[in-house]
Amino acid sequence: MQRKIVIRGGHVITMDPARSTYENGVVVCEGSRIASVGADTGEAHADAEIIDASGCVVMPGLVNAHTHLYAMFGRSLSFDQLFPQWLATQKGIIAQFTREDFALCIEAAIVLNLRCGNTSVLDNLAVAAATGNDFYSTALDIAARYHVGYTLARGYTDQLNAPDYIETLPVIEKLMRELIERYHGSADGRLRISPSPMLPWALSNEGYRLTRRLADEYKLGIHMHTAESSDYAVMLQKAFGSPSNLKPYADGGCLGPDVQLLGCSFLTAEELVEVARTGTRIIFDPSSGMNIGLGGPPTLGVINNGHPSAIATNGMASAGGQDLFRAMQNLIGLARLEKGGPQALSTQRVLELATIEGATALGIGNEVGSLEPGKRADVICVDQQQAYSAPAIDVSASLVFSTTGHDVRDVVANGHVVVRDKILRAGDEKEIMARATARARTLVKGLATAA
Ligand SMILES: [Zn+2]
Repeated sequence: MQRKIVIRGGHVITMDPARSTYENGVVVCEGSRIASVGADTGEAHADAEIIDASGCVVMPGLVNAHTHLYAMFGRSLSFDQLFPQWLATQKGIIAQFTREDFALCIEAAIVLNLRCGNTSVLDNLAVAAATGNDFYSTALDIAARYHVGYTLARGYTDQLNAPDYIETLPVIEKLMRELIERYHGSADGRLRISPSPMLPWALSNEGYRLTRRLADEYKLGIHMHTAESSDYAVMLQKAFGSPSNLKPYADGGCLGPDVQLLGCSFLTAEELVEVARTGTRIIFDPSSGMNIGLGGPPTLGVINNGHPSAIATNGMASAGGQDLFRAMQNLIGLARLEKGGPQALSTQRVLELATIEGATALGIGNEVGSLEPGKRADVICVDQQQAYSAPAIDVSASLVFSTTGHDVRDVVANGHVVVRDKILRAGDEKEIMARATARARTLVKGLATAA
């Protein structure tokens, strides 16, 4: 018997091409796929797990387009310190990781993402070269177990970086091929690999050309931090004799619709034109930029450039949590402040960034991001009847301005109920967080010793 889940009684927002909604809708999931979506005709569904979504919005699982799951242990540290000290703290925690610590971080952070309704996550990881692919495989195996859609953007560097991170290009190519051939497209298509030059100046021209070759050969997205602070231009000048963030990408063939740039606060007007001309995707990261005080997303320069964009939480060490509802509220607030009015960005559009548009920008829009028959059964029920958001008459506005990840009540990922009534089913949340807290405390003590 195939698994069958029926979610009924809620206000369904499909994000399908017609942007259909059903005030009293029903979503039927069979196995790992959505079987049907529509108005509830009252049909009985024997042998199905029924989720009564009365008082909830039922919508596609959210797409978190960029995070760093291994930053879980340091998520409350150094928020009041300048960026270099913040970075030193985070790196100091990660430098002490055993494989078990790393695995625990990834597991706890996946639980956090699922509890916030993020069923698709792009995780940008870069660990010390000595571990080869060992830690990356560990992360992918945990993601497979939790039914989450997981893209590993595997970081690499061959110049101008901490020596323990540097790999030679032949080693990078060998390890990338191993990872891609073992994981890309596995677990029902949920696991994906992206090549990810670690920082714009920290990869040689030949490294960018290798990145393009791998992307073309395996049909992969390329994922990169770009222009997050004004220091980027200084480092780029040193490495390539030009302060341009885009020049090394352009020279190595790494601009285009299969390329995603995160951050981009300091891209110039000319560079934003180049982004639009090449169809390169921009990922908005409002929360981290605000929290660290580095810079806001280039929303107004990108949002109407004719190409899909995405939204992300970034890592919890800079975002605090993994709450895409909060990111949506931050993004819309910053855009409206900059423009001086609500015409900068609508609530509907920012919801699209977190669902179908974000999925399309990442190249997974045919699989996730909307509730349509045949797509992956990634569905969330968001409570709208508590004091936090009731009365929710205009649900788009309510989701963006009155809702947080804490309101996510039920989560179906790849056809599995992983959260029900805010209780994690896929694991023991209390036990995982208790272990994570104990280990984080130990590693913080290690920081003090090293200093
Ligand atoms: Zn990041």
